[in-house]
Amino acid sequence: MRTGAAAAAYLRRGAAMLRGLGITFRYLFKPPITIRYPEEKRTAVQPRFKGRHWLTLYEDGMERCVGCELCVIVCPSQAIYVRAAENTPERQVSKGERYAEEFQINELRCIFCGFCEEACPTGAIVLGREYELAGYTRESLIYTKPMLTEPYPGASGRDPGREV
Ligand code: SF4
Ligand code: SF4
Repeated sequence: MRTGAAAAAYLRRGAAMLRGLGITFRYLFKPPITIRYPEEKRTAVQPRFKGRHWLTLYEDGMERCVGCELCVIVCPSQAIYVRAAENTPERQVSKGERYAEEFQINELRCIFCGFCEEACPTGAIVLGREYELAGYTRESLIYTKPMLTEPYPGASGRDPGREV
């Protein structure tokens, strides 16, 4: 009786092992879905992917950010710091009364939720497609205004002529 129960247990284990091996062999001959990063890189990400932040410009090069700090208020990670200053007739940086004299985003704190982009009344801050945000120091991952501002209108991939 005991011998029969032991034999049944062996058979069950053997069947489970064969099922497992079957799965292994099924995937063995399928092409891999992973890539050898960083030698290979993905060129396309999902349409709603949220990556590196940009501060965008209008077509004429004026800054969209008006220093309202709504992004600061809405950010759940307290990752954004903005210091606003007044535009003057001699120095008109944005199309509002104020502009961001200083703007920082701590990419280490950011959880890429996109709330800042949603809250921004002028469409200034956007999350782009870039996902390579590694660095060797904490300081290098606190992005400053020169790092965040797109180098020319549309460089972030967003239409500089859009409404918001
Ligand atoms: S994406 Fe979210 S967490 Fe990151 S800076 Fe914007 S609001 Fe903050
Ligand atoms: S990025 Fe947008 S929400 Fe943030 S301070 Fe500038 S205008 Fe306001």
